[in-house]
Amino acid sequence: MFESLSDRLTGALKDLRGKGRLSPADIDATCREIRLALLEADVALPVVRGFIARIKERAKGSEVSAALNPAQQVVKIVNEELVAILGGETRRLTLAKTPPTVIMLAGLQGAGKTTLAGKLAKWLRDQGHQPLLVACDLQRPGAVTQLQVVGERAGVPVFAPHPGTSIGGGENALGVTAADPIAVAEAGITEARAKQYDVVIVDTAGRLGIDAELMAQAAGIRDAVKPDETLFVLDAMIGQDAVSTAEAFRDGVGFTGVVLTKLDGDARGGAALSVRNVTGEPIMFASTGEKLEDFDVFHPDRMASRILGMGDVLTLIEQAEQVYDAQQAEEAARKIGSGELTLEDFLDQMLAIRKLGPIGNLLGMLPGAGQMKDALAQVDDKQLDRVQAIIRGMTPAERDNPKIINASRRLRIANGSGVQVSDVNQLVDRFFEARKMMTAMGRQMGMPGGNRRTK
Ligand code: GDP
Repeated sequence: MFESLSDRLTGALKDLRGKGRLSPADIDATCREIRLALLEADVALPVVRGFIARIKERAKGSEVSAALNPAQQVVKIVNEELVAILGGETRRLTLAKTPPTVIMLAGLQGAGKTTLAGKLAKWLRDQGHQPLLVACDLQRPGAVTQLQVVGERAGVPVFAPHPGTSIGGGENALGVTAADPIAVAEAGITEARAKQYDVVIVDTAGRLGIDAELMAQAAGIRDAVKPDETLFVLDAMIGQDAVSTAEAFRDGVGFTGVVLTKLDGDARGGAALSVRNVTGEPIMFASTGEKLEDFDVFHPDRMASRILGMGDVLTLIEQAEQVYDAQQAEEAARKIGSGELTLEDFLDQMLAIRKLGPIGNLLGMLPGAGQMKDALAQVDDKQLDRVQAIIRGMTPAERDNPKIINASRRLRIANGSGVQVSDVNQLVDRFFEARKMMTAMGRQMGMPGGNRRTK
């Protein structure tokens, strides 16, 4: 699903990594790559244009978060904009105040409506509802039987005209003329009321292309059953046609939500990224296979991070922003630049990082960390606990000016924090080394407090 789009987007964003600052030219180049990636994935041109314009504006604008480096900021912006074009918040099914809730399915023939009817029925049943499927696709030969098969698999009853009377007249037990889908739909609702089903799923006839007569039939069913939700079922593999099809259904029948099917295919999948933007209606469910279980609620945020292929990095960015204390970081940067960093600052920084969770998890979230499992296993939290304990065993004066930590102080600290003197030695030596290195690096990067300033 979205593999090539995902690869290209990840590639475009990867080029930014390691850059200390982004020039307008860097941003333009990245946006060009993103634009090509989206167009290649069949995302509609107006959607791409709007998307790129917003990213450019935000990336170049004053929107800077001190907690993130420039590359992370661009990833964050691209992610947020992707979530936005996918619809923002997850849209849940609206249930009627007085049951039954009526859900009508509409879409082209072959889009996956009947399959979806079964999936939705099972999904609702698993949540404790009592759904009833109603077969109003009397156009396509075998459609009623197909619904009965999926209904049986889902363990959900199907209301349908009697077999053998499906086309060309005849009456079923309820006196419904089988050829009239509107009458079948109405009778289905009556049946649901009588037998206390709380959700009715109405499967309608599809069409191969946009067909005025069938569209009018769907509108007739809609008027008869007054659905709480009309779901437009869209095959994600139809590419560019998705937009015009969606517009035709919006104008001809109207819908309250979209279901994307066949997301498991290797389609370019641009439909998913265009349909919400073009129709203004949310994507509510996604189908990812032929089995009843291959179905789920559509979450714009999860889909976006999946497309960006860096879900965990995004989590990390979010968490970093949450625990980031701007004042503290500025102070630390100043001290690094001027070589004044103390063990107290070191402890503060360490505590801030540890607020993000166990260090192993944290490193595990970074891309490529999968291959570093052995190395990660060694960075255990116990080691950090020990460092923390040693620093806590020092007096404020010692933390402030580690130079005063002589042999007798080291022995006292070791005893007080339950470690060996060699552990204390190691920590203090490493601290001095690290401070020297950081100060040199800080000067090179123009940290405040150093010789060169950024602004
Ligand atoms: P309808 O004409 O809209 O009722 O479409 P169907 O439910 O009959 O589906 C058409 C074909 O698409 C069938 O062969 C389904 O098995 C298949 N199909 C439906 N949904 C999916 C899906 O999410 N993934 C895949 N791979 N196939 C699907």
